[in-house]
Amino acid sequence: MTNERYDVVVIGAGVAGAAFAAGCAGSGRVLLVERSVWPRDKVCGCCLNAAALASLANLGLAEEVAASGAAMQCVRLRASGRAAGFARAGGVAVSRKVLDGLLVARGVARGVVFQAETAAIVVGPQPRGAGWLVELRHGGCDRIVEAGLVIAADGLTGGSLDRLEGFGPRVCGRSWFGVGGALEACAGGPAPGEVELCIGANGYVGRVRVDAMTTALAGALDPAWTKRIGGPRRALEAVLDEAGASTIDLGDVQIRGTGLLSRRRARVSAPDLLVLGDAAGYVEPFTGEGMAWAFAGAGAAVRMAESGMRGVDIAGAWSRWHAGEVRSRQRMCGVIRGVLRRPWLVGGAVALMGRVPAAAGLAELIARGLERPYAGGDWVPA
Ligand SMILES: Cc1cc2nc3c(=O)[nH]c(=O)nc-3n(C[C@H](O)[C@H](O)[C@H](O)COP(=O)(O)OP(=O)(O)OC[C@H]3O[C@@H](n4cnc5c(N)ncnc54)[C@H](O)[C@@H]3O)c2cc1C
Repeated sequence: MTNERYDVVVIGAGVAGAAFAAGCAGSGRVLLVERSVWPRDKVCGCCLNAAALASLANLGLAEEVAASGAAMQCVRLRASGRAAGFARAGGVAVSRKVLDGLLVARGVARGVVFQAETAAIVVGPQPRGAGWLVELRHGGCDRIVEAGLVIAADGLTGGSLDRLEGFGPRVCGRSWFGVGGALEACAGGPAPGEVELCIGANGYVGRVRVDAMTTALAGALDPAWTKRIGGPRRALEAVLDEAGASTIDLGDVQIRGTGLLSRRRARVSAPDLLVLGDAAGYVEPFTGEGMAWAFAGAGAAVRMAESGMRGVDIAGAWSRWHAGEVRSRQRMCGVIRGVLRRPWLVGGAVALMGRVPAAAGLAELIARGLERPYAGGDWVPA
């Protein structure tokens, strides 16, 4: 029996995979597979910065996303009972269920074949010719498809590359884990347009309104401390309390967690296989850049895939792009993570920002620097 054959199989319909699929639709048969029941939500702070919005504009989705979310205007930092803020206009907060749904719908409208509730695992290279064999598991029924190009965009803990040698992720020893949930937008939480970041000694929590009714809550926690204090719900309340934020009742909120956040993948490419988004490596969410990394990577990879279809080996080009454009920014994010582990330093910085406008101006400049455009990330869909 002959296997189904696709020019591209994209694994994971998060922002990296769905944006890649939408961008390369039209350049051949594209299959996008997603393990979850669709649409799904995801643990995320839901803040799109200017670089992420530029990628969405290239896909023709910026206006629709802006209309579905809430414009961001400022950031308020809270630590050790002190508070300070700075302007951060130009971003949008939007629920991941909505955003990822719009991206997938855009790809499907352009001819992408989308299959939800389907987990993929790369089995190995095709015995004859270029490309890979990919096993798809859906409702107890497994089948193998052939892929000319595989895009592994299965997030932090997807496992689609577990059978391939040399791709194992390395998790940073003192990594924190992510938590999040959606609350009813209520009095006492952040004002519309405000991103509130509450920092404690053992974790931090961000809150932002993503629409008139909902506040997204997301953060990172020390796993050992969370266990000691009685679990993620108690830990989130303790971080908000320590930072001096208004307390909230998390009683009915479904809190979800992630795997350990800070990780690197030993390899991010092989011939006809590229690893995109969080699957290629992640640090921590404090700077709110993860989706911009994923979108810019998807854009650069679409261009490389087009040149690959003209016979160019794209594996080396992708590894170089990822090291130059994403890992370099992740190093900066790693430095900020180091500062956040020193509560006395954070408390002092927030106090200074509250008193000295130039210090708040410096924080705004740093935030703007994180939004600078990515080389080769300004992509034009096929
Ligand atoms: C607490 C927290 C807050 C954050 N806040 C922000 C923020 O405010 N702004 C920002 O820009 N970024 C933020 N991020 C980062 C952002 O969420 C990620 O960087 C982004 O979602 C990466 O997209 P992705 O497509 O690589 O992965 P994901 O969005 O995780 O998508 C991967 C998809 O692959 C699917 N999948 C997994 N395995 C398989 C398989 N074997 N087969 C098929 N499908 C599979 C999963 O179900 C999932 O849908 C935050 C992250 C965390 C943890």
